[in-house]
Amino acid sequence: MRGFIGDLHIHTALSPCAGEQMTPPAIVAQALKAGLDFIAVTDHNSAGNVEAVMEAARGTILKVWPGLEVQTKEEVHLVCLFDSVETALAWQDVVYRHLPPGENIENIWGTQLLLDARGKERGREKRLLLQSTSLSIEEVFRGVSLLEGIVIPAHVDRQAYSLLNVLGFIPPGLPITALEVSRAENLERIRSRTSLPQGFSLIASSDAHYLEDIGQLATCFCMHELTFSELRLALAGEGGRKVVMVQGAGGYFRVVE
Ligand SMILES: [Zn+2]
Ligand SMILES: [Zn+2]
Repeated sequence: MRGFIGDLHIHTALSPCAGEQMTPPAIVAQALKAGLDFIAVTDHNSAGNVEAVMEAARGTILKVWPGLEVQTKEEVHLVCLFDSVETALAWQDVVYRHLPPGENIENIWGTQLLLDARGKERGREKRLLLQSTSLSIEEVFRGVSLLEGIVIPAHVDRQAYSLLNVLGFIPPGLPITALEVSRAENLERIRSRTSLPQGFSLIASSDAHYLEDIGQLATCFCMHELTFSELRLALAGEGGRKVVMVQGAGGYFRVVE
């Protein structure tokens, strides 16, 4: 087994709250510079730029997985990860069908840029992405698992849009294997939180909205190879595999003790 370092929560310029410099080539270059082995692209309620980032990484050593960060009707953010563009786009179709009607107003919410692999604008997403879908937490878990994807509750250490803060508990019966922490200053606190149920892996991700965020927080996955099925097994801690939260420290990573 070896350690692969990944940042599984990165926004592109498609997310209205992300910087316009979050283009596919810039994200790939920054991830490589940070020393990451893999990333996931997780825009709010959309997978519109995942193919462009995957294309931008082609020929490099960076592995890119497609994903979306879905906002449920309970106002909880769930990172949804997939092994293929096809399944991510199939899930995007479901999410779009559950988005309330409404167009993005750029000067209020920000731009939602659809980009190509070279970072050129292909168009602008008209749907207002930054809002709750009508999907429940349970429906997201069910729908994503039918597409053989992985759901990770996002930034559970924060107040807003966090499973632990919105609900105050982890609903029993959900197939959760991991929870995400996304603020360095909260790593210690969330680890020592006595109310956190046992049996979940904690991963750290940057939730990058700007280039300099990428790889600031990441997770070392100790596993046999860089595949989606190994990722799943590492999150579940199967067969000696494990995940370890790490912090970027200028070109290398240090383990969060
Ligand atoms: Zn979020
Ligand atoms: Zn996010």
